Amino acid sequence: MTQDIAHELRTPLTTLKSHTRALEDGIWEPTADRFQTCLEEIDRLIQLVTELEDLHDMESPEFQLSRSKQDLGYIMERAITLATAMYYEKKVDLQYVGGSPILAEVDADRMFQVLINMLSNALHYTPAGGTVQAELVDEGAHALIRIQDSGQGISSSDLPYIFERLYRGDKSRNRSSGGSGMGLAIVKQLVSAHGGQVWAESGGKHAGGSCFYIRIPKEE
Ligand code: ADP
Repeated sequence: MTQDIAHELRTPLTTLKSHTRALEDGIWEPTADRFQTCLEEIDRLIQLVTELEDLHDMESPEFQLSRSKQDLGYIMERAITLATAMYYEKKVDLQYVGGSPILAEVDADRMFQVLINMLSNALHYTPAGGTVQAELVDEGAHALIRIQDSGQGISSSDLPYIFERLYRGDKSRNRSSGGSGMGLAIVKQLVSAHGGQVWAESGGKHAGGSCFYIRIPKEE
């Protein structure tokens, strides 16, 4: 793990160093674009460190969810409303099937975090003109959340590993597109803390896209 983190930190730091040196030596004109590239690398480092800290906190024995009776439908609607603007900007259609209240003992902020993470991923991996469908289903003792996208899908060689920390599928493409590979590890940790399961399917009936499922027990 330490070695993986060192590797993840080294690449953006090396880029930043060579860019700064080129600016210092006058090989590069200090244009706004070049500063922007450096800032993006710095943002990526900050995001990675924040997510590593977050996951570390969640794995500590003191970590506790703040659970209370919540309407999962309402949490889902809040997440959909927040995501709508990002979807609109990229021209990806976001559809939501649900609406009726589903009461469950959950940590509302953490569930919101999980949903935003999944909706952001679905958007990230779906090209403009695509569709993402979110669904909340009452299964009696459990609630099932389904997020299906029409995006690039996940190869069968990546599928078993995507919930591991720092794992990024199709590495060369994803490094430049900004993913830290921590999002799904955090989602898994939070869903497990709720006593639930999260898994993904791709290909077959999902017609090229991916489908993520979260099943949460309604009672603690
Ligand atoms: P990242 O920051 O790289 O998105 P995640 O932990 O969120 O990290 O996801 C891990 C990997 O799972 C991604 O690099 C990507 O290969 C794959 N992945 C996650 N969500 C999707 C999706 N909706 N469609 C296709 N691939 C996905």
